[in-house]
Amino acid sequence: MTAIRQQDLIESVAGALQFMSYYHPVDYLEALGEAYRREASPAAKDAIAQILTNSRMCAEGHRPLCQDTGIVVAFVKVGMNVTWPDATMAVSDMINEGVRRAYLDPDNRLRASILADPIGSRRNTRDNTPAVIHYEIVSGDTVEVTLSAKGGGSENKAKLVMLNPSDSIVDWVVQTVPTMGAGWCPPGMLGIGVGGTAEKAMLLAKESLMEPIDIHELLARGPRTPLEKLRVELYEKVNALGIGAQGLGGLATVLDVKVRDYPTHAASQPVAMIPNCAATRHAHFTLDGSGAAHLDPPDLARWPDVHWTPAPTARRVNLDTLTRAEAAAWQPGEALLLTGRILTGRDAAHQRIADYHARGEALPGGLDFHNRVIYYVGPVDPVRDEVVGPAGPTTSTRMDKFSGLMLEQHGLVAMIGKAERGPAAITAIKRTGAVYLMAVGGAAYLVAKAIKGARVVAFADLGMEAIYEFDVKDMPVTVAVDARGTSVHETGPREWQARIGKIPIAVV
Ligand code: SF4
Repeated sequence: MTAIRQQDLIESVAGALQFMSYYHPVDYLEALGEAYRREASPAAKDAIAQILTNSRMCAEGHRPLCQDTGIVVAFVKVGMNVTWPDATMAVSDMINEGVRRAYLDPDNRLRASILADPIGSRRNTRDNTPAVIHYEIVSGDTVEVTLSAKGGGSENKAKLVMLNPSDSIVDWVVQTVPTMGAGWCPPGMLGIGVGGTAEKAMLLAKESLMEPIDIHELLARGPRTPLEKLRVELYEKVNALGIGAQGLGGLATVLDVKVRDYPTHAASQPVAMIPNCAATRHAHFTLDGSGAAHLDPPDLARWPDVHWTPAPTARRVNLDTLTRAEAAAWQPGEALLLTGRILTGRDAAHQRIADYHARGEALPGGLDFHNRVIYYVGPVDPVRDEVVGPAGPTTSTRMDKFSGLMLEQHGLVAMIGKAERGPAAITAIKRTGAVYLMAVGGAAYLVAKAIKGARVVAFADLGMEAIYEFDVKDMPVTVAVDARGTSVHETGPREWQARIGKIPIAVV
């Protein structure tokens, strides 16, 4: 029998979550570096350069890769010959204690994103607990733990379908990936689970994302099994969609496609698909009774030699004198460097503004969005001399339903976020002549370096969802929807799908 100490599990979980918050897995970095070298789309190449540069900065500075530091998912395999002689907690409580310590670590405090009572008050638990934990009792005398910290933007794009046994998995995936938009911050991975039951397929998909990237080895030696053939076909066809980094159109949409399967009912073909994003975060350790696990820091020499700097042609914008007339001259895809003051706000703040509007009340504290720019962000708390922690964009589509209100009633000039806008937002943009700008999801620490001052101006009780005013200097963004409603998330993928030329373009 192997004795596992409570403290060893707690320390190991805390250490692994801190580690993955600032170190990308090296296999992901190398695959992204290769995607950078091969990328022919300038916009996508620029986005990958920002993600790689951000990754190096985080590894050096021990700060989070993304402002969304994720929901913790744990896969725990407990050997049948393991004992817990000093345990005063259940194993789930030990794992949650590890999560708590990692997320409250004063040297690298991570963002608490977990809300209790999701149907009612949606109250932040303040320490990112509880984790989602899956157990398996296995033979042996160790405890194996695989942890991930999954970003909401990519988790929100998870799909499940119960196909007929005769239906094509490839067709479903190729039709479904474009409907996921860019909110999952490609390029990343797709995890596909096939078989079992509905919930088993989802678990297979999630667990497959914990595997290292190895599609290039598979391509080099050639697939040998139906599962490997499926991986290769999906990898090639999804990349032929031309979605590209951040949905801007390009060659690299997925760096790998993982597939796991399980026996299923004769009447069924459950298929689950879960994407993993630019903030790919997972770690694995084994406890064998000899103490807590310690993960070796990767060698910084393995980071691709990519150092993003703003394009010399980028237009410099003074936010403090900005008007809709000035913004109307900006072109789709144009790079901007923003200087001046912006307001922030995301889901909860927008809902509150809508509630004030519905009650016919003025916004509190003189809050005024007229001729201002809003940034959809929930930053990480600052440490040491930072004014704000990593502060990348959140998915804009969730704010689409508030766009009419914010542009027409509250007079915004521009919105900044990540991923595409839906019809409601684009209609409001066209009607008002406002614009939508995108920052790169997964480049949160790099973006935060442009923020020189930060103060909460409303809704402080919402924590990271409060409304801040940021002072920014040369904040890099791209015009994603211009004042006439042209969206680069439509034009870019269409252009690159046609250029790649492997998938017919639907004529609409
Ligand atoms: S990279 Fe994108 S999807 Fe992933 S955690 Fe960050 S913002 Fe969310």
